[in-house]
Amino acid sequence: MAKDTKKKRKGKADADGTKYAIYLEGVNKAYEDGVPALTDIDLKITPGEFVFIAGETGSGKSTLIKLLLRELKADEGKINVCGYDLMRIKRRDVPKFRRNLGVVFQNFRLLKERNVYDNVAFAQRIIQKSEREIRKNVPSILSAVGLAGKYKAKPKQLSGGEQQRVALARALVNKPTILLADEPTGNLDPKNTNEIMHLLEKINENGTTVVVVTHNREIVNAMQKRVVTLRKGAIVSDEEKGGYIDED
Ligand code: ADP
Ligand code: MG
Repeated sequence: MAKDTKKKRKGKADADGTKYAIYLEGVNKAYEDGVPALTDIDLKITPGEFVFIAGETGSGKSTLIKLLLRELKADEGKINVCGYDLMRIKRRDVPKFRRNLGVVFQNFRLLKERNVYDNVAFAQRIIQKSEREIRKNVPSILSAVGLAGKYKAKPKQLSGGEQQRVALARALVNKPTILLADEPTGNLDPKNTNEIMHLLEKINENGTTVVVVTHNREIVNAMQKRVVTLRKGAIVSDEEKGGYIDED
């Protein structure tokens, strides 16, 4: 097998040499109907950080995630993720860029007819990993998320918390440098919510940059991480070891 020779990109650097995994400056995004979704966003996240993006429904959290994934293009500003300039990236380079990212969503988005093993293996097949590597990597990531015994189960045979752990395994199996999670615990009870959050923390401790969108006040207040708060499309607060800020 040919070794993976892709050049590792370190991210964008400031004038002082600080490297960023995620760098946004003066970013604006409005939807076709003209409704501004994000206004003048400045956000810098260094490699290995854990950041909550908090804010009420409609504040622009998912739009921000879509910009980071280059599902949407910003109207104005600078966006650099993992060293890729997302205002200039060519369409054909987007899949390669996205290999740096793992993503999980509120509604899990698993393949319903496939079992747990195949849901995770699918992510590896897309990037043409050999079956030999897949047989090594999938069981290892499934045991890391506590699902080693469930590899044959179909999604509907699993609890919500288990389904989200499958989604996490799928997001992680290709070893992304950044994990983006858009309301990953939105459909989970408090016990599963805590377990997923604990896993995200563990993933972060292993070096992955983790960005978690949530409007769960209890979690944000309990975890004492950096909290970026959006309100009506603008960042209204950005605090180390922050808490959840309510609408007034
Ligand atoms: P959040 O994830 O915080 O709930 P969103 O980013 O989904 O917020 O939405 C931000 C704003 O953009 C809201 O006013 C929402 O109605 C609007 N919006 C989101 N998606 C679209 C879309 N596809 N077309 C038009 N407006 C949208
Ligand atoms: Mg949303």
